[in-house]
Amino acid sequence: MAIKTYRVSMSAGGQTALDKGMVDSFRARLRGTLLTAEDDGYEAARRVWNGMVDKRPALVVRCAGTADVIAAVNFSREHGLLTAIRGGGHNVAGSALVDHGLVIDLSGMRSVHVDPGRRLARVEGGARLGDLDHETQAFGLAAPVGLVSATGVAGLTLHGGMGWLLRKHGLSIDNLSSVEVVTADGQLRKASQSENADLFWAIRGGGGNFGVVTAFEFRLHPVGPQVWMAVPIYPLEQAEDVIAGLRDYMAKAPAELMTLGVFWNAPEAPEVPERYRGMPVVIALGCYSGPFDAGERIIAPLRKLGTPIADLSAPMSWVQAQKFLDQDYPDGAFYYWKSLYLDRLDGEVIRALAKHTRNRPSPISSIDVWMLGKATVGASPSESAFYKRDAPYMLGIEANWHDREKNEANIRWARTLVEEMKPFSRDGIYLNFPGHMENKEATLQAAYGPHLDRLRAIKAKVDPADLFSGLLSNSPQTAVRTGIG
Ligand SMILES: Cc1cc2nc3c(=O)[nH]c(=O)nc-3n(C[C@H](O)[C@H](O)[C@H](O)COP(=O)(O)OP(=O)(O)OC[C@H]3O[C@@H](n4cnc5c(N)ncnc54)[C@H](O)[C@@H]3O)c2cc1C
Repeated sequence: MAIKTYRVSMSAGGQTALDKGMVDSFRARLRGTLLTAEDDGYEAARRVWNGMVDKRPALVVRCAGTADVIAAVNFSREHGLLTAIRGGGHNVAGSALVDHGLVIDLSGMRSVHVDPGRRLARVEGGARLGDLDHETQAFGLAAPVGLVSATGVAGLTLHGGMGWLLRKHGLSIDNLSSVEVVTADGQLRKASQSENADLFWAIRGGGGNFGVVTAFEFRLHPVGPQVWMAVPIYPLEQAEDVIAGLRDYMAKAPAELMTLGVFWNAPEAPEVPERYRGMPVVIALGCYSGPFDAGERIIAPLRKLGTPIADLSAPMSWVQAQKFLDQDYPDGAFYYWKSLYLDRLDGEVIRALAKHTRNRPSPISSIDVWMLGKATVGASPSESAFYKRDAPYMLGIEANWHDREKNEANIRWARTLVEEMKPFSRDGIYLNFPGHMENKEATLQAAYGPHLDRLRAIKAKVDPADLFSGLLSNSPQTAVRTGIG
């Protein structure tokens, strides 16, 4: 039977019926494409990186440029539709999609333009980290972003952005000079320190609650072309020595060295003796992006923290370093990631992390200790919405698995670990590793602390009808269906 109306969820709750003529005339105004459940490409368009996410938007607007974004925002506002924004589609909670609502999908807007003289890059709102690295490295430059090249620049940046350049150049948001954003009234605005400064403050850490960012302008830094990766792999039994040694070395290491203590399994790599492959290990994973000649010497102590079973440390191009972990995060597997900041990393904490590594229900899950040092303190806490800048370590808890039957065991593992680590944490969570954004109010408090009231006031001003369904919205979002609370 031919479709006559589309039932679409509204941001205020309930549903509205849009007749086919209305939807077709909206489609005709776009340079990009509008997909509904009847269209080829719809199934692919409703998939995101996390295979747990199974949402069915009513309308997906694949924008070809800013004009399409403006048209989509206007259409959504005029009909009061529940609206999500998709950048790289890598948010662990699947927030790029809304069930039965409208998705403003920027995956076709990935251009990056570099001005090498001014060391600036203008990056479209759907670009991936790999797009940015590829373009900037042509000029020996880089922007501080994250560790896996398929991740979207937009989502990563809007909640902070941590990567290999963190200790030297701060968070991704600390390197933003301006953004172009289509706000809920359909206007394209520029926001920077000197223009729409409140909006610029909110966007740097406040997520996709304030409008659709069509372009980010980043300040760039000379990096590479060659950097040193440190990848010594130690048996889990040596975790206490290795992590304590890493902690002590990082307290005095140059800012160009960024590391994570990774509790994981030995990879199926030829360099790893067969008997150790798949065994629980701890890795002093690092990247030194300073003067190349100094790199081998600077990472050397990381390779002697114990007796490695294998050592994959090597020089490589910056672009390769940015892809070093790519294969470990395949599209469509199941993921549940959480975070919390740690104030201490002593024997008690390390032993607890080793214990939870042993009892992971899935061998591909990991625990990452991000050695932040004073990196995030570079900017003052009041400079942007990103609040937590004084913790020396951050814990990234990554439950990764393939079997739907194991949802509950894996999610429980991550949640139990978070609870056990709370005594070692004053406060704060990192919203780029947000679980499934359950317990919304507690999550917001933990992430924004004293900044939450100001964020809410800015949201009420720039998005009075609560169009954009970010964490600050009151809209009835559907959580990821896990079957457990
Ligand atoms: C494999 C992997 C590795 C990761 N590594 C790191 C890392 O090293 N460092 C780190 O800090 N984080 C990391 N993350 C976390 C990552 O930053 C978040 O998952 C982030 O949300 C991904 O952004 P995205 O654009 O791909 O997401 P999407 O799912 O597309 O978007 C997430 C949310 O961002 C908002 N949004 C997206 N695009 C726009 C836009 N153009 N305008 C306005 N709002 C928008 C929307 O609210 C959307 O719901 C990693 C995630 C994955 C999956």
